[in-house]
Amino acid sequence: MDWANLGFGYIKTPYRYVSEYKNGKWDGGILTGDDKIVISECAGVLQYAQTVFEGLKAYTAKDGRIVTFRPDLNAERMIESAKRLEIPEFPKERFLEAVDKVVAANKSFVPPYGSGASLYLRPFIFGSSAVIGVKPAKEYQFRIFATPVGPYFKSGIKPITLRVSDFDRAAPRGTGHVKAGLNYAMSLRAIVDAHENGFDENLYLDPTTRTFVEETGGANFIFVTKDGKIVTPKSDSILPSITRRSLCFAAEKYLGLTVEQRPVKLSEIENFAECGLCGTAAVISPVGKINDHGREILFPSGMNEMGEITKKLYETLTAIQTGEIQAPEGWIREIR
Ligand SMILES: *Cc1c(COP(=O)(O)O)cnc(C)c1O
Repeated sequence: MDWANLGFGYIKTPYRYVSEYKNGKWDGGILTGDDKIVISECAGVLQYAQTVFEGLKAYTAKDGRIVTFRPDLNAERMIESAKRLEIPEFPKERFLEAVDKVVAANKSFVPPYGSGASLYLRPFIFGSSAVIGVKPAKEYQFRIFATPVGPYFKSGIKPITLRVSDFDRAAPRGTGHVKAGLNYAMSLRAIVDAHENGFDENLYLDPTTRTFVEETGGANFIFVTKDGKIVTPKSDSILPSITRRSLCFAAEKYLGLTVEQRPVKLSEIENFAECGLCGTAAVISPVGKINDHGREILFPSGMNEMGEITKKLYETLTAIQTGEIQAPEGWIREIR
């Protein structure tokens, strides 16, 4: 494998985990080599998008152990997502076991320490039985597959440009806070349009007043004030990023910074010194510029490098993940 030049695409690996839900319970689950799924043309997932997912990575730590980062939080978040879509919960302990099994079975696809690459894991649950009247399916599949992905920042870390979107990603009291494919289906028009207009991502506003910053299509915001405080938006329609929660913890406990989680007005972001997007894929992607209908907000950190504090945060969390510095209790799960 040419780890350094891998992109973020699907590469089939030998094993995936499958558990089926029938007659009101999950079966024991198996590892299988079969990457194909046969379901009814009328399956709940196909007709009414009844599906939720997760995303996490397995990688090699500095000491050579193969590990995952806080998979318990993925398991818990998937339970919350499932509840919102009337999908039966997949128990946390079983989720963790399934993650361990898929990684162990595909061990040769876990990139070495220092490569910047990782084995991306995609747990998902979908309604597999036929439903034509609108109601929850009776049968489901829980699956996890693994695909190796390359380093996020291949040619160095380069700040990106966002634009304030005229679309909303979440409805008030809708599904913005859960990880459901439906949130992504309806963001596709917006992201293609952003790309066509030369922007990397959309900044979505709160769907009720359209005056507060929410998140992008797939990452939460972290801002740094001019006096070095961390500010991250609070809203009921933001997806609770595990990376963002971990970064805020590290900012307080490892770097001694003040962290404020509060509503953030679009009109105040021009006063911030730095801006970053956080998610599993990149940890933090620096944002250099935000375009609000022609008005350009250029962060003082500029378009060439990560802001100073953003960089410290990035380095601290990646060092915690790889075991270069001591992780908080329970953050690193070893695959045996
Ligand atoms: C998955 C996701 C994130 C990032 O969450 P992580 O747990 O940090 O990977 C942020 N926003 C949305 C909408 C997401 O789906």
